[in-house]
Amino acid sequence: MKERKIQDECGVFGIYGVEHAASLTYYGLHALQHRGQEGCGIISVDEEGAFHRIKGKGLVTEVFKGDELSAMRGNMAIGHVLYTAAEGNRLENVQPLMFHHKSGDFAIANNGCLVNAEELRSYLENRGSLFQSTSDSEILAHLIKKERSASRPRIHTIIDALNMMEGAFTFMVMTSRRIYACRDKHGLHPLAIGRLGEGYVIASETCAFDTLGAEYIRDVEPGEVVTIDHHGIRSNLYSQFKHYNMCSMEYIYLARPDSDIEGCNVHAYRKESGKLLFKEAPAEADIVVGVPDSSLSAAMGYAEASGLPYEMGLIKNKYIGRTFIQPTQALREKGVRMKLSAVRTIVKGKRVVLVDDSIVRGTTSRRIVTMLKEAGATEVHVRIASPPMTEPCFYGVDTTSYDELISARLSVPEVQEAIGADSLAFLSEESLYVAGRREELCTACFTGRYPTALYHNSAMVKKCKCKK
Ligand code: SF4
Repeated sequence: MKERKIQDECGVFGIYGVEHAASLTYYGLHALQHRGQEGCGIISVDEEGAFHRIKGKGLVTEVFKGDELSAMRGNMAIGHVLYTAAEGNRLENVQPLMFHHKSGDFAIANNGCLVNAEELRSYLENRGSLFQSTSDSEILAHLIKKERSASRPRIHTIIDALNMMEGAFTFMVMTSRRIYACRDKHGLHPLAIGRLGEGYVIASETCAFDTLGAEYIRDVEPGEVVTIDHHGIRSNLYSQFKHYNMCSMEYIYLARPDSDIEGCNVHAYRKESGKLLFKEAPAEADIVVGVPDSSLSAAMGYAEASGLPYEMGLIKNKYIGRTFIQPTQALREKGVRMKLSAVRTIVKGKRVVLVDDSIVRGTTSRRIVTMLKEAGATEVHVRIASPPMTEPCFYGVDTTSYDELISARLSVPEVQEAIGADSLAFLSEESLYVAGRREELCTACFTGRYPTALYHNSAMVKKCKCKK
């Protein structure tokens, strides 16, 4: 049976021109750990152009040992934290991936998901390429290798390869002398550049810069390839088509609140969305409670706008991972039971407004509402700081298949009944734009308006209601 396409919502990090690059990459990946907890890897290049690699399954603190890291020489490195869904959890898929070619070795790491991966794989396999992983990074590597000749600059080969790719990606390609940072022309996922001493850092989120004391310079633009080497930074556009369709889920749920994405702080965005949510759906209640951690900012905004006290009615066990990014439903359910507790003395006898960032399957919401009522809340009014999620994501965020999305099957009153809430309301699509003062965003999982072409391959037919 053909293996299902791997689903990544990962984190990438790169560093150029700084001593102890591998060790610094460790700290960068640690800051990006929330983007993927299934595996991680670092590849560095030393002064002789030799590549060194450590990778494994598990958390950053589990995979990298201090003595091994400090033995990784070089002032240039790239790293990756991996989230994989279901059967994609194989060591071969843990990135960065390394490739050998007569023109020189290179390494690749990616966050995102190509929508024409099946077509490109068939194209390449028909021309003799053998794949060892299900990662999109390997597709880019084979495309680069196919077109690469000694006389042709590598940047041209990379540009040709990127022009064959459709979907969401933030690739980092590292050769023995430079790093190329590439972002898809739709601008679906974030990738930022910072300055660290005399060198540069690149990361999926700016929170990684703060960890290292790096200074944010700018974002990699949609459709841009940024080359970083001893000449500094150079820019090439691989596409004239360019949009800023940032994944709205980055703001709503995925990114860390201390990150800035395309000029907008994630905490500020969420807080504003909470204020807008109150305007759209006020509730008669005594306190406002947010679901830790990603909904706390929206709950603060709701409380501020409503004048109701913001209370810590739920606490989280910090040592349990996030349920949304656990790869199986069984693990997610187990995670919810272990990670949250209602604070009885806070919620007892109170009418609670429960603010959450999103409802995917509804199982988490049902458990939390039950938990609050068991702790003595007299009413629980659920307010969701995003619209009903009705469509799957094909760009690397595991919002599961159409059948598993509760809002794709049930109306808002039916969802309210299924989760046991006294009332339920969602933020409007319009407010997603207003909260970030944005003109463009990807909102496809709420609206079905996908910013890219969709290829009717088998994985999508299985996932999407709009396919035959
Ligand atoms: S479909 Fe949803 S989760 Fe996927 S990129 Fe668009 S907004 Fe993000």
